[in-house]
Amino acid sequence: MLPLDPQADPGRRAWIPCPQCPDTHHCQPCQQQRTCPTHWRYLLTNTGSLLHLQCPHCNHLWTHESNFGATRTPAP
Ligand SMILES: [Zn+2]
Ligand SMILES: [Zn+2]
Repeated sequence: MLPLDPQADPGRRAWIPCPQCPDTHHCQPCQQQRTCPTHWRYLLTNTGSLLHLQCPHCNHLWTHESNFGATRTPAP
């Protein structure tokens, strides 16, 4: 198991399902894509629309493409 990243901060959370934990499948707030009090992930850093996440349950680290800002036209 990976150690918890030093950048992990409970004040910075993201509600993105963990690829390792199937724990959100039977959870009502998660299914409704609401801010579940149980199933949240640490938002470590973000590079543009790419989010670096860590799961507080299994300590899995992964990146998630949020596509946020993807509609912005690139600078000429
Ligand atoms: Zn997990
Ligand atoms: Zn949940």
